[in-house]
Amino acid sequence: MEDLKRNLQIIKKDIKEAMILSGRSDDVLLVGVTKTFPVDKIYDGMELGIFDVGENKAQEFTEKYAIIKDRVNWHFIGHLQKNKVKYIVGKVKLIHSVDSLGLAEEISKRAEKANIIQDVLIEVNVSGEESKFGVRSNNIEDLLTSISQLKGIKVKGLMTMAPNVDDDLLVRSVFKELRLLKENIIDLHINNINMDYLSMGMSQDFKLAILEGANIIRVGSLIYGKR
Ligand SMILES: *Cc1c(COP(=O)(O)O)cnc(C)c1O
Repeated sequence: MEDLKRNLQIIKKDIKEAMILSGRSDDVLLVGVTKTFPVDKIYDGMELGIFDVGENKAQEFTEKYAIIKDRVNWHFIGHLQKNKVKYIVGKVKLIHSVDSLGLAEEISKRAEKANIIQDVLIEVNVSGEESKFGVRSNNIEDLLTSISQLKGIKVKGLMTMAPNVDDDLLVRSVFKELRLLKENIIDLHINNINMDYLSMGMSQDFKLAILEGANIIRVGSLIYGKR
């Protein structure tokens, strides 16, 4: 608990510094990524004020949700298969990882059944790495246009993961590209599509992400410790 407290203090200071450096006065939402950690860590985080929690696997989320319920805002940040959508929709505040029309349709269908609208982000594979999930930037306009017709889903922004490299310039250029993509999308004025959120930055690169306009950062190991 003491570790957690200290980690969080350092992160908050770093967030503040990056905000000042970039001249921003808006808010950054810190999502505590608790994948692979036991629920105790979620409780510890709650005591320190972390009420936005990210999980990346449907099974693990379901187990933790059964215990914690709606006492936190859940964020689903991992690759989501269509057959797992039913375990997620309506329970999470935001799905960060929509990367196909098929997935969006399934989410919308399940949400309509439950009489809700599910908020989502579109995951973009900015760097074009084969190993990464996400929509390629050049396909996003078509995808958004199709999703905008769906009744049960609301697009609230974009998410990306930077390559796992030690090259700040490269990492920052990926974040910058997502920000520019967001601005291009805003200019398209697609009905029912909104670009409130840029979810980018993890333990090793959240400062760079904030400099490029991230307003949701997803931080795990730097808060909760090594996995
Ligand atoms: C694990 C994970 C994170 C957090 O990673 P850390 O290095 O632990 O901060 C953020 N986003 C996604 C999509 C993840 O899977």
